[in-house]
Amino acid sequence: MKRRGLLIVLSGPSGVGKGTVRAAIFNKTDQKFVYSVSATTRAARPGEVDGKDYFFKTREEFEKMIEQGQLLEYAEYVGNYYGTPIDYVEKTLAEGKDVFLEIEVQGAIQVREKMPEGVYIFLTPPDLSVLQSRIVNRGTDSDDVIQQRMKKAREELNLMKHYDYAVRNDQVDLAVAKIECIIASEHLRVQRSIDTIEEIEEELEAMLD
Ligand code: 5GP
Repeated sequence: MKRRGLLIVLSGPSGVGKGTVRAAIFNKTDQKFVYSVSATTRAARPGEVDGKDYFFKTREEFEKMIEQGQLLEYAEYVGNYYGTPIDYVEKTLAEGKDVFLEIEVQGAIQVREKMPEGVYIFLTPPDLSVLQSRIVNRGTDSDDVIQQRMKKAREELNLMKHYDYAVRNDQVDLAVAKIECIIASEHLRVQRSIDTIEEIEEELEAMLD
């Protein structure tokens, strides 16, 4: 039996730098995970590519995906839907590849309920002022949206207790190194090797017979 891949979920409050950390992980030539591209109803930002950054959908299309059970999780975030297509995640894990999700906290909690065997990593800001300046300096959002994102970030920090690991994002390369350590250790968990060990035991028993 092929060993299933590991589901890795990176989450954390708005503006904590999840996107930057994720990009740094995927820019590395030796990264071994597969990124799950999300669907969203928000408009593409300059330079974003449909199918690579997101699958850009209308509200009607997205709601159809919800109705048809095509999403592993979804959340409404600052007026737009965001969700993870389930088929791709299932298929890739079944192929034995690690799947990496970078999603907001409500969605991550839904995934945790369905797939508790995953690894849940919460990215924390060095402090609240850093978080505020990151949200403001993003420069792409109106004042109203910035206010909503700050309020949301405060609520989101409270959800850290539902995660397995907390990684402080004070320096992107350090955060990436820590995430890589977490994933390497998770692969070594005894529980994840049980199938392999049982196979070895059976082979040994057969040799003894
Ligand atoms: P942005 O609009 O800045 O690209 O993303 C806004 C938020 O949505 C970020 O916190 C990002 O992590 C989150 N996000 C992206 N894709 C998904 C998804 O598939 N599901 C959920 N729940 N959140 C997502």
